[in-house]
Amino acid sequence: MLSLSDVHVNYGHVSALKGISLKVEAGQIVSLLGANGAGKSTTLKMISRMVKSKKGSYEMEGKSMIKELPSSIVKQGIIHCPENRRVFPLFSVEENLIIGAYNNRSKLVKEEMENVFRYFPLLKDRLKQKAGTLSGGEQQMLAIGRALMGKPKVLLLDEPSLGLAPKIVKEIFSIIKDINKDGTSILIVEQNAYKAIGISDYSYVLENGSIALQGTPEELKNNDEVRRLYLGG
Ligand code: ATP
Repeated sequence: MLSLSDVHVNYGHVSALKGISLKVEAGQIVSLLGANGAGKSTTLKMISRMVKSKKGSYEMEGKSMIKELPSSIVKQGIIHCPENRRVFPLFSVEENLIIGAYNNRSKLVKEEMENVFRYFPLLKDRLKQKAGTLSGGEQQMLAIGRALMGKPKVLLLDEPSLGLAPKIVKEIFSIIKDINKDGTSILIVEQNAYKAIGISDYSYVLENGSIALQGTPEELKNNDEVRRLYLGG
């Protein structure tokens, strides 16, 4: 469905991605793991075209995306839920959700909102609350809900567990699994390798801008290096 091949990204003289190749097949959850600065967020930003690539190819459903603008990436059904949630703090929950549907034509917006409430019923009770006054976990739910309003075929999730209590992380991961079961493919960046491998069909481990390891959950859980570095021995 979505594939990158030999993608390179530089920030000035900093080489952030040095030849990344990966695939997300329809219906899969794929995770990108790795230490701080490995290039995980840059990979998602490259896919949504917020950063330009220097070299390599990028396809979605057989179509090259390499020259597309971020707006046409969204139209193609690739929706980015960024690190640190990035909700609009002074806008209400409802307004944040509507912003997520900017690509969507009128009547369907209400329908999409009902769909979001199926996963996050709490948001329905908080529609008029300013997003900045929600708790961290609630803001994460809103950020994912806002991304769902764009009707993703592939949802890009950057560190949904960041700074959240274990109970909330568990809840959010379970909802991510439900969203996937309902037909959305997911590419998730996570520091919490244990949690991410647990819900993934396939994972890639990035090191210093390159893919150091990849495999199914079984392959990674049986890999001594992954266990030592990312799964706590
Ligand atoms: P983290 O988990 O800490 O967010 P990451 O794996 O997502 O890490 P990236 O944010 O993709 O890593 O960063 C990859 C490399 O690119 C790092 O060396 C980082 O310092 C560098 N980098 C990222 N954004 C920029 C930028 N806007 N300008 C210059 N260098 C950048």
